[in-house]
Amino acid sequence: MEYLPLFAKLTDEPCLVIGGGEIAARKIRQLQRAGARITVVAPELNAELRAAVDSGLYAYIEQEFSEALIGDHLLLTAATGDRAVNQRVASAASAARRLCNVVDDRELSTFIMPSVIDRSPIVVAVSSGGHSPILARMLRQRIEDWLPERIGELASWAGKWRSTAHQKILGHASRLRFWESTLDGAAADAVLDGNVDRANRLMTQTINGAPSATEPGEAWLIGAGPGDPGLITRRGIELLRRADAVLYDRLVSAEVIELARRDASMIPVGKQPGGPSTTQSDINEQLVTLVQQGKRVCRLKGGDPFIFGRGGEEIAALNAAGLPYQVIPGITAAAGCAASLAIPLTQRKVSSAVTFVTGHGADQPDDPGPDWPMLAASQHTLVIYMGVARISEACARLIRHGRPATTPAAIVENGTTEQQRVIGGTLATLPDRASDNNVQAPALVIIGDVVALAGTMQWTDNTNDPNVSAHTIG
Ligand code: SAH
Repeated sequence: MEYLPLFAKLTDEPCLVIGGGEIAARKIRQLQRAGARITVVAPELNAELRAAVDSGLYAYIEQEFSEALIGDHLLLTAATGDRAVNQRVASAASAARRLCNVVDDRELSTFIMPSVIDRSPIVVAVSSGGHSPILARMLRQRIEDWLPERIGELASWAGKWRSTAHQKILGHASRLRFWESTLDGAAADAVLDGNVDRANRLMTQTINGAPSATEPGEAWLIGAGPGDPGLITRRGIELLRRADAVLYDRLVSAEVIELARRDASMIPVGKQPGGPSTTQSDINEQLVTLVQQGKRVCRLKGGDPFIFGRGGEEIAALNAAGLPYQVIPGITAAAGCAASLAIPLTQRKVSSAVTFVTGHGADQPDDPGPDWPMLAASQHTLVIYMGVARISEACARLIRHGRPATTPAAIVENGTTEQQRVIGGTLATLPDRASDNNVQAPALVIIGDVVALAGTMQWTDNTNDPNVSAHTIG
């Protein structure tokens, strides 16, 4: 190990920064976060540092560096961009036995500043020993994505319980087991969700030896996005990783499902058009039963839970059973497909509204389906979910109620995934093109003048059919 990582307490410690430019400013911000007492030495300052000095944040010595300035400063940082000056700072620091960092100069530095994630009191520092700062930064970003948002709060909360736990739980090994299970259990989850009261309740019960599972678990309705595994939220991933059981939809990608814990129960509840499927009331029942057993259950749904996702029915069941839940939004298929095709769903002067409808409900006696005359009358963008089977009917109705037959339209199959196919056309031509190309669910129909704006996009056309491409649109 070339460098020993240390976390130094710099509160009110005098630190000297040599340099008045942007790089110096960046280093100063880092030192400032640790509460250091900073003096800047430079013949001149950039605007940011000037303002900070004027507001009294740092002391400023307006001159070139000289050895005499080292004084009682504990750390020195040279950020002058002038190697000769940096060299003098480094030699002076070495003579005075002070630690010195010279920005971007491994050779002259006796300490280096790592790439930092600050979720105080949890601090993660990553360093490449100056070999590849960019790689260190990329690693830091990955760790950042993976770290729960409230990990610092969790550490503080555990800190507050330390002495009580110490008194009640005797023996090093038992304490270790206790903390391991606590920090991986429901109480820690509650803290990570911002519910410290619940966490404290659970902790009091556990410490007093109450049987566990007196508190129910929790349901998390998570939108997994339209297909591309990159399109799920960080919060969704965070909760998915913690779940004891996962009830997942057919449309959720395998890569997302893989993010669940290895020991979580994985329960597919896909609704297959025409195939075997779990009914909605079965899903509601399983969800309620698992949560009542004290489990943290992730209900992982395609797109957004509340857009043709029946999320409302699931929370109604949870409400009826008096069980806690959270809803984590997802990127709905319309947003995902539109982004992938570079179709703006609304655009000034072209379309000032977008409507999402289902092409499916109309065949159910108690559901009148969309108001086609109204949809046909406007210039607004229309997105039809679950519309493949009835695309001819939908297009014909729109034309019949007055929407021009030349209105641009596209159908997107498996949008945002590697299997994405796009068929372009108009209200008049799209139905035949879709059936000639055997378009299958999941597919989304986008109708409106905005579709023609997608002229510059990179449509994937893997059908070898000359009609199936962006150029046929509009
Ligand atoms: N809650 C989901 C929609 C569920 S209904 C959401 O917000 O996206 C299922 C319908 O969504 C499918 O029939 C299809 O119309 C659409 N859909 C979902 N994923 C899709 C995808 N990757 N590409 C195209 N359409 C998709």
